[in-house]
Amino acid sequence: MSLTAMGKNGLQVESVALSDIAARFGTPCYVYSRAALGAAYAAYRDTLLAHGMLDRSLICYAVKANSNLAILNLFARLGAGFDIVSGGELARVLAAGGKADRIVFSGVGKSRAEMRSALEAGIHCFNVESASELDQLSEVAGSVGRRAPVSLRVNPDVDAKTHPYISTGLKSAKFGVAFGAAFDLYVRAASLPHVALKGIDCHIGSQLLDPAPAAEAADKVLALVDRLAAAGILLEHIDLGGGMGIQYRGDEPAPAASDYLAPMLAKLAGRREKLVFEPGRSLVGNAGLLLTRVEVLKPGEEKHFAVVDAAMNDLMRPALYDAWHDIVKVMPEPGDKGNATAMTYEVVGPVCESGDFLGHDRELALNEGDLLAILSAGAYGMAMASNYNSRPRAAEVMIDGASMHLIRRREEISQLFALESILP
Ligand SMILES: *Cc1c(COP(=O)(O)O)cnc(C)c1O
Repeated sequence: MSLTAMGKNGLQVESVALSDIAARFGTPCYVYSRAALGAAYAAYRDTLLAHGMLDRSLICYAVKANSNLAILNLFARLGAGFDIVSGGELARVLAAGGKADRIVFSGVGKSRAEMRSALEAGIHCFNVESASELDQLSEVAGSVGRRAPVSLRVNPDVDAKTHPYISTGLKSAKFGVAFGAAFDLYVRAASLPHVALKGIDCHIGSQLLDPAPAAEAADKVLALVDRLAAAGILLEHIDLGGGMGIQYRGDEPAPAASDYLAPMLAKLAGRREKLVFEPGRSLVGNAGLLLTRVEVLKPGEEKHFAVVDAAMNDLMRPALYDAWHDIVKVMPEPGDKGNATAMTYEVVGPVCESGDFLGHDRELALNEGDLLAILSAGAYGMAMASNYNSRPRAAEVMIDGASMHLIRRREEISQLFALESILP
C-alpha cells in the first residue's frame, strides 16, 4: 500500500492534502497514516493466522522505531505488546495504555533503576544480554522480593547482510550472549534464586530484505532450545526479534511480510513454545513521511542545491547510514508557478555540516516555496531527531481518514534551553 496518492490539491495521505497539513501545522512536519499503521500490523497478524500461530504469538512493537504516544496507543489498541530498550520507553508504553505483561525489555546496558522499575511494573520478560547483566538482575529482583522473568538474547553469528551499523547478529557485535556460551549460561541462570527462565531471544539486525538469515538464526536457536530441553531446561517462548526491511526506493521493492516470515515460520511449525516477534521499522516505516518546504535554490558550478527547512537533526538516516529516501513534490499545490525545469539537486538542510543532506542527485523541478515529501520516514525518523543547531523538533500529525490530529506540537525555541542555567 502506498502512503500517498495524487488528489486535486496535490499529494494526499488518506483523504487529507499535504498542502493543507503544511498550511495548518507548518513545516517541517512528520505525517503518519492511521490506516497504514493498521495495515502493517495486520500483515503480521494475518501471516501468523495463516500459519496457525496467531494464538500462541505476541507481536511486540519495537518502540525505538517511533515512540510517539499516539502510535504506541494505536498498537496497544490493536493488541500489540512492546519491545523496549530503556526505562524511558517503559514509561512511554505505560503512559500510552500498553500492558506491562506484554512488554519485553531488550538492551545491552540496563541500569539497576531500569531493572527495578520494569520488575515493579511486572513486565513479560527481560532479554538478558550478558552474564553480568544476569547477576545484576537477579540481585535487583532479590532486593524487591521478585523473580525476574528472563530470556537470554543469544547471538547466533549469522550475517544479516545489512548495513554494518544495523547488523547485530555477528560474533563481533556488542549484542547478545555468544552462541557457544549460551548453554552454560542457561544452566547457571536456572540455579539463580531470583530468576525465572522463560525463553530465548535473538535479533540479528535491521532492514533485512532476504529471509534466509532470519531462518538460519531460527534454526540455530531451535537447536539450542532442544538441547536445553534435553538437559531439563524447558523454555516457554522463543523470541525471534525484528528486522524485516521495508521499501525505501521506488525501484527496489521489499518482500511482503507473508513472504519474509514464511521460511522462519516453517521452522516453528508444530512446536509447543509460544512465539514473540519484535518488529519496529516494518510496522511504521512506510506509514510516515516528512513534509518539508524548499527555502532556497542555490545553483552551483558542480552541484545544484535545494535547501529545505528539514535537516539531519529531523531525519538522521541519510547522514548516519547514507540511507536513501525517495523525495517527491507535493505539487500541484495552490500557487505553484509550474514553470520550473527539472534539474539534478542535492537536497540539503540548513544545518552547518556537510553531512547534512536528505538526498543526493535528485531529479526535481523546483521553485522556492515548493513542498516536498520525504517518504518512508516513519521509522527511526522523529525517534532519532535532535535539537542540533538549536533547531526545535518538528511537529507530528496523524491522519485518520479526513481528520488531522496533532500528535506532537512543534517544539518552541524557549523549551530548548529551559533546563539550562548560567553561573551565579
Ligand atoms: C531495534 C530492535 C528491534 C526492531 O528492529 P527493526 O529492524 O526496526 O524491526 C527489535 N529488537 C531489538 C532487540 C532491537 O534492538
